[in-house]
Amino acid sequence: MSLPWATRRMTRLTMFGLPLLLAGAALAGLLSFNDSAHRPKVVLDPGHGGDELGAVEYGLVERDLNLDMAKRVGALLTAAGIDVVYTRTDDGRAYGERPLLTEYSATFADLEERIEIANETKADLFVSIHSNAFGVDRGARGIEVYYNPDRAFAARSRELAEAIRAGVVSLLEAHGYQAPPSRIEEDIAITDAAGRTTPYLVLGGERELKREEMDERGGDWDALGYGKKASVQTRATQMPGVLLELLYLSNEEDVALLRDDSARHHMAEGIADGILRTLGRR
Ligand SMILES: [Zn+2]
Repeated sequence: MSLPWATRRMTRLTMFGLPLLLAGAALAGLLSFNDSAHRPKVVLDPGHGGDELGAVEYGLVERDLNLDMAKRVGALLTAAGIDVVYTRTDDGRAYGERPLLTEYSATFADLEERIEIANETKADLFVSIHSNAFGVDRGARGIEVYYNPDRAFAARSRELAEAIRAGVVSLLEAHGYQAPPSRIEEDIAITDAAGRTTPYLVLGGERELKREEMDERGGDWDALGYGKKASVQTRATQMPGVLLELLYLSNEEDVALLRDDSARHHMAEGIADGILRTLGRR
């Protein structure tokens, strides 16, 4: 910053200060009018898709449960005057048909596409909907809402996470259900069975992904269209967001709730309530 610039600006403000202030007040009035007319936009991201089913337990398929829950939540939000954008509306992957990709490449491209959809819509909030499973300990159960503490909007994402957690619990309890345990979790990275750590894609920040890493994980660099590049920059959602793990498909009590149409309806109400509260609409 240079001092001459600051001095010039001060002079201008002195000369034109009053008209500028008046224009500013008029503009502020206009902006606040527009603000109240702003229709909030929310991206709902039903996890998994296509031949990537997510958790499968007790005859339940996570891919399908996620889509059903997203549609229930979306209908409630739409009725409340919110614009809803889905990353997928059928069983397929977010990018539709794209054969010839290895499993890892397909999942990678699918997640990148979800982030792209969210960013293109310039949504106010991003909510990824999943259910968990943990076959090693079938006692593990409950609701987890993940947010990323290391990214921009961390405070707002945490607020959204807490509102959704509290919303689901209170709506279940209000309708006579014993609410499952629930918690907020920080979403940093997942570690797979081989001990390799990958940052969560949908809530993660941008990072450099080298060709060797993609090769090592079974991805197909060429099929993804990266050609001769040595690395690519992964995308990142540009709005507050959370990833909900709605109950465990590996736990019988949770499965009973997931199968119960009325419980599903109230959980959807709870998720929508949390989103609306975060948007200041409740
Ligand atoms: Zn999942």
